[in-house]
Amino acid sequence: MKGRAALAGSFLFMVALLGAGFPAQAEIAARLVRVIDGDSLVVRTPEGNRIISLAGIDAPETGQPFAARTRQEVLNLTRQKTFLLRSAGIDPVGRPSAEVILPDQSSLNQKLVAAGLAWAREDSALGRRFKPLEENARREKRGLWADPKVQTPKEFRQQGRVISAPAKAPVAQNAQKDNVPFAVFVEPGHSLYHLRGCRVIRGEAFGLPLQMARENKLIPCSVCRPPF
Ligand SMILES: [Zn+2]
Repeated sequence: MKGRAALAGSFLFMVALLGAGFPAQAEIAARLVRVIDGDSLVVRTPEGNRIISLAGIDAPETGQPFAARTRQEVLNLTRQKTFLLRSAGIDPVGRPSAEVILPDQSSLNQKLVAAGLAWAREDSALGRRFKPLEENARREKRGLWADPKVQTPKEFRQQGRVISAPAKAPVAQNAQKDNVPFAVFVEPGHSLYHLRGCRVIRGEAFGLPLQMARENKLIPCSVCRPPF
């Protein structure tokens, strides 16, 4: 009981921390620092750099068709521009989520769905508003809808968990020796960290304590979803 309360307390603290400088309902100006993937970016705001997820949408995961195309579109539409972040609360993995309003007042999130480069999320009010655009894109076979049987990112992530057998996955030697409660894995030069055996890992990955991943501001992979 006590442990549970402490856990709830630390979760709320984490939410408060991530939400710092990003009040609900607010619009703040931001510039792009880096596109992580089709639905998450690092942005520079007056309060410092923030990782945000694009509210209401689910973009193809790394390794899925159109992942690179969607990421490129996000880059094309946001780089060297000042845009507004319209706060949409906290996403399911605890990151601040926002609608990105571009200089021409259009919504980046909406554009991606309309172009067939992302799915509308049914678990979000904003996503439900985008649903007709997704249906339209599907009818017109735009973007990822060129394949009518395209796997959703959720299906892809679930499959990723199932096939992440440690035996054939690239794992680091030093992680075993670390006397730490939790080791995560990083490819040299990459900014994502993973659980052991994540399918996104392409080459050699080295293990490091979760704490070190945090200190180096590495980003939790959205496929294997390590703790953060
Ligand atoms: Zn991963």
